Amino acid sequence: MTKKRIATVWLDGCSGCHMSFLDMDERLLDLAAVADLVYSPLVDAKEFPENVDVTLVEGAVSSEDDLHKIKLVRERTKILVSLGDCAVTANVPGMRNPFGTKAVYDRAYRENVTFDPGIPDQVVPPLLPTSRPIHEFVTVDVYVPGCPPSADTIYYAVSELLEGRTPDLSLKTRFGA
Ligand code: SF4
Repeated sequence: MTKKRIATVWLDGCSGCHMSFLDMDERLLDLAAVADLVYSPLVDAKEFPENVDVTLVEGAVSSEDDLHKIKLVRERTKILVSLGDCAVTANVPGMRNPFGTKAVYDRAYRENVTFDPGIPDQVVPPLLPTSRPIHEFVTVDVYVPGCPPSADTIYYAVSELLEGRTPDLSLKTRFGA
């Protein structure tokens, strides 16, 4: 049997959704039996590869780098999963939206800095005007809300997708759960 190819991507999130992914514990071995993790913060892959069957995306789209990445991921992924409330609604990253980027930069790089305050003009990717959910930029196939979604929910969703079924998450998870 040919193994499926799965990936996880970390945009503007706290990594809590990835921690929940790891909380699947020994069930990760069950998934590893039927699928290869070809890209993730958890593995040493630098470039998002072609022909990925299922990609789980944590976090909102907040920077130019996030936007570039999610478009590339969409092009190269058959089933794109919006994982967690930040991906689905912008959630915590979206809390900056009413203030504008100047206030955010000033708070992060001037007001709270004692050594060499100043807004970086390299390495740190420029912010988009607001932090937005993934589906505002690309088509999302499956939404998995929760902050974070539980390991049980993630395992169920991924297992169903790898079996070629659409997971019914209505009784499994909810926003903020
Ligand atoms: S949904 Fe919650 S756990 Fe996941 S990245 Fe956002 S804040 Fe973190």
